[in-house]
Amino acid sequence: MSVAPTILSKIFRRSKSDCEKLREMASLHLDGELSEEERRQIEFHLEQCEMCSGFVSTLRETINMLQKLPPQGIPQELKRTILQIGDEGTPSSSQG
Ligand SMILES: [Zn+2]
Repeated sequence: MSVAPTILSKIFRRSKSDCEKLREMASLHLDGELSEEERRQIEFHLEQCEMCSGFVSTLRETINMLQKLPPQGIPQELKRTILQIGDEGTPSSSQG
């Protein structure tokens, strides 16, 4: 099975807009939402383009990090700390 020549020429004619397009597609790529052909284009570009390769690996690390966070987003402990700071700022009115 061979890749269509039009796709290859598109990739080889690497330009700034190709890199911008790749960055837009990169998050979809990491989510596994692209077709096999689109994935192949991205992987080929990454082999040729150090800049985008670095971008995608950083993006992948960021996504991995976000996936480790609890579903509610803010950890309970951090929430409590924020509430405590708010309490300290409240003036006492029990003096008479
Ligand atoms: Zn690139």
